Amino acid sequence: MPSLLAEFAAAIASRRIEVVDLTQTLHPGTPVIGLPSPFAQTKPFAIEEISRYDARGPAWYWNNFSCGEHTGTHFDAPIHWITGKDLADGATDTIPVQRLIAPACVIDVSREAAEDERFILTPRHILAWEREHGLIPKGSWVLMRTDWSKRTDPERFLNMKADGPHVPGPNADAIRLLAAGRDVNGWGVEAVGTDHGQAFSFEPAFPAHALMHGANKFGLASLSNLDKLPPTGAVIVAAPLKIRGGSGSPLRVLALVERG
Ligand code: MN
Repeated sequence: MPSLLAEFAAAIASRRIEVVDLTQTLHPGTPVIGLPSPFAQTKPFAIEEISRYDARGPAWYWNNFSCGEHTGTHFDAPIHWITGKDLADGATDTIPVQRLIAPACVIDVSREAAEDERFILTPRHILAWEREHGLIPKGSWVLMRTDWSKRTDPERFLNMKADGPHVPGPNADAIRLLAAGRDVNGWGVEAVGTDHGQAFSFEPAFPAHALMHGANKFGLASLSNLDKLPPTGAVIVAAPLKIRGGSGSPLRVLALVERG
């Protein structure tokens, strides 16, 4: 009898493997990205009670909810960007499910982000991380810890200024190194989107979208609790809703962390 899964289940039950929730709670106040005119806007999260043990349904409680695909803690599928639009396995319903469970490398730049709201992650930071923790393995999630999720005030979280959002993020060379050089599974952040706040002015614009998705890699945005993860060794379970032709979806992101 194979024993791997039995050992795994026992380790979860005994908390030798801890399950860490990397998800923000969805509610009508969940901040969503706002695009400049003339671009179309996403709907925020909305919830409407159908019945709650009352005349509308005496023994049951349920709600309708609505939101854009890119609301709260959410998954960016490769077809989200024009560079990934023709990928046959790039939509929420066509992604190979094996890729929805993958190890994580966590790059902690929380100190840099606290000092500079427009901190730019470059290959230098990635190579410094690798000197300490080893080469980023192929097929890994790379998660950038900024502690941005601790900004519980939506205005501070979006941090919109006259010249656009002041939000840390990667430059194009960092994304090239991860996508082409390390063949990662995807790129995840704590902020509302995977790109730097000023990435509209980068070359190419929005590299975490343009280069990652063009290389058939995924994105995760609005993650939390990255401070509870080790630099290496955690395993991420991130499965978007199976929306036909979907460009992404809100989801529950779980990290499995082995406690020594
Ligand atoms: Mn998104």
